[in-house]
Amino acid sequence: MKCRKCGEKAVVNLREHRLSLCKGCYIPWFVDYTEKTIKKFRMIDRGDRVLVAVSGGKDSLALWDVLNELGYETFGLYIHLGIDYDGYSDVSLQKSKQFAERIGKKLVVVDVEKEVGAGIPELRGITRRPVCSVCGMTKRYYMNRIAMELGASVLATGHNLDDEVSQLLGNILNWNIDYLIQQSPVLPAREEGLKKKVKPFCYFTEKQTLLYTVLRNIDYVEMECPFSVGATSIFNKDILNQLEHRSPGIKRRFYDGFLNNKHVFLKDVVDEIGLRNCSNCGMPTVNEVCSFCKTKERVRSVVQ
Ligand code: SF4
Ligand code: ZN
Repeated sequence: MKCRKCGEKAVVNLREHRLSLCKGCYIPWFVDYTEKTIKKFRMIDRGDRVLVAVSGGKDSLALWDVLNELGYETFGLYIHLGIDYDGYSDVSLQKSKQFAERIGKKLVVVDVEKEVGAGIPELRGITRRPVCSVCGMTKRYYMNRIAMELGASVLATGHNLDDEVSQLLGNILNWNIDYLIQQSPVLPAREEGLKKKVKPFCYFTEKQTLLYTVLRNIDYVEMECPFSVGATSIFNKDILNQLEHRSPGIKRRFYDGFLNNKHVFLKDVVDEIGLRNCSNCGMPTVNEVCSFCKTKERVRSVVQ
C-alpha cells in the first residue's frame, strides 16, 4: 500500500476517504482536515481566545496540539475530578501539565475536591445520581465558568466522530429530544453567559486521533476512567464500528445526515430553551438555582 500523495509506504488506509497516507503526509493531512472542519462549521475565528478542555487523554491533547500548530491563541483547562483508582486523576493531570510545558502554553487547573468539598466518586453517593451524570454536569459548569472568568471566546473539546455517533445513537434509541436538539459540532454563545462550544475533531475517528497522537509523540494517559468500564457508550461504539466495517463511511453519513436533517424532524421543538442566571452563582440555568449550586449545597449539608 503506497501513499497517495508521495508514493512512500503508507501507514494508514482511510477507507472512508479512499486515501492511503504515509507518516510524513498523515500529520499535515490531519491538521489541514481539522482546519477545514473549523471553517465548515465556523467554529473559530482568528482573534478568538480558545479554552481547550484537556483530560490528559489522546483526543484532547491532540486537539490542543493541532490548534496550536494552526496558530490559534489557546490555553488549557484541566479539571481534577478526584478519581483515585490507580491514581487516574493525578496521572491525567501530570500528562496534561507535561504537554502544556511542551507547547509552552498556560494550563489552568480546577480541583473539584477543593472547590466543592467532595470528588466525583463521593458526589455520586451524596447526590445519588449516576456518576457520569454528576461528572458531566460538574465539567460543563467549570468549563463555562473558567471560560467566562478568563475571557475565552470559544471553548473547544476533543470529542471525535466515535463519541458523537455513539451519543447520537444513544439519544435516538431513547428519544432524548432535549439532548438531540443540543447535539452539534458547534453551539453558539448565549447572552445569558454560555460560551460558544466547538468540537473540531468531530469528523475524525478514534483511530485517526490515536494515530496522530502516536506519530506526534504525544505522551497521553492510556488508562480509561474506571467509571467508563461497561458504559453503554462503549457498547454503542462497538456496534457502530461493526457497521463501519461492513459499510465504510456509515458513521460519517449517520452524523452528517443527522446534522443536515435535524431541523426537519425537530422543527417544532427547536425553539430556544429559556435560560436565566442562577440566583446564587450567576451562571446560566433553566431553574432559579443551577444544578451545580444545588449539588454544592447538598455536599455542605452532608459534610457539616
Ligand atoms: Fe466522568 Fe469518568 Fe464518567 Fe467520563 S467516564 S463522565 S470522566 S466519571
Ligand atoms: Zn449556580
